Amino acid sequence: MISVFGSANMDLVAYVAEAPKPGETITGREFRTIPGGKGANQAIAAARAGADVAFLGAVGDDAFGPGLRAALAEAGVDTAGLRVVPGPSGVAHIVVQDGGDNSIIVVPGANGTVTGPAGRDAEVIARSGALLLQLELPMDAVVAAARISRAAVPRAAVPHAAVPRAAVSRAEVILTPAPAAPLPAELLEAVDLIVPNEHEAAALTGRDDPGDALEALLDLVPEAVVTLGVRGALYGSRDGTRLHEPAVPVRAVDTTAAGDTFAGALAVARTEGAAPARALRFASAAAALSVQREGASTSMPHRHEIDRLME
Ligand code: ADP
Repeated sequence: MISVFGSANMDLVAYVAEAPKPGETITGREFRTIPGGKGANQAIAAARAGADVAFLGAVGDDAFGPGLRAALAEAGVDTAGLRVVPGPSGVAHIVVQDGGDNSIIVVPGANGTVTGPAGRDAEVIARSGALLLQLELPMDAVVAAARISRAAVPRAAVPHAAVPRAAVSRAEVILTPAPAAPLPAELLEAVDLIVPNEHEAAALTGRDDPGDALEALLDLVPEAVVTLGVRGALYGSRDGTRLHEPAVPVRAVDTTAAGDTFAGALAVARTEGAAPARALRFASAAAALSVQREGASTSMPHRHEIDRLME
């Protein structure tokens, strides 16, 4: 099982010729509400890619909450850990101009109320093979989740006495450091694999060259992947392995959430025991399928499609 402790946002997308200037009112061409948020996107990507996935997070008691829950549930994600809190859900207010330039305002809403996992949520993390984290929840909560996974799990905390020993080993912690922010040492200590895109990698390390950034990331955590958009992805491990996985050549129509699809699929392959090269290839295939379709969660591929592309 994979747990995702992260954000759920409703994306409110207006499509316009040109974004309005301050004080200006314009008429847009089209409007869509699309379930998103990096946490929810990664959960849906991992579920479609074939894993049992539990989502831990919060929505508001507004009209968007049920839609966000339904989007996760439709993908087969367990939403028992999705709380409803008073106030608004997280929203991303997005203006897409002709030509594709975006401006985005994220208002965290319910995501901003999430605190470190406790009780059942902590048990779910402890039982998982992987824990997916991003930085759209309060940093303290993200750190607490990572540390739960790091801590040894006392047998008493595991509900079934007959759980095999492997099931009480800790979840592998996979962090997408987005939006880019300084990472506290307590978080880095608990992360097994970090998966930034090249811009986030540069922001984190101060190195513009992705290969240099990868090396700098390996000073911080044991394994790293730097995604390079259409140029693919770099992988490095402290055991000396270095890989470059080219992107699958496809005609991209919308690269929204390519990185979230990649991270979700990567976690699935790793929890299935795939070696790094195969896990990268699986994640690249999933992401390449997603960029050929519009939308975020709506564009994520199912397992059989990924397997077919891998053949
Ligand atoms: P993010 O969405 O976080 O900015 P990237 O743009 O780096 O992340 O994309 C993540 C992954 O998605 C890439 O490593 C690549 O495998 C795949 N990808 C992105 N853009 C394309 C594309 N145009 N064609 C094929 N694959 C792509």
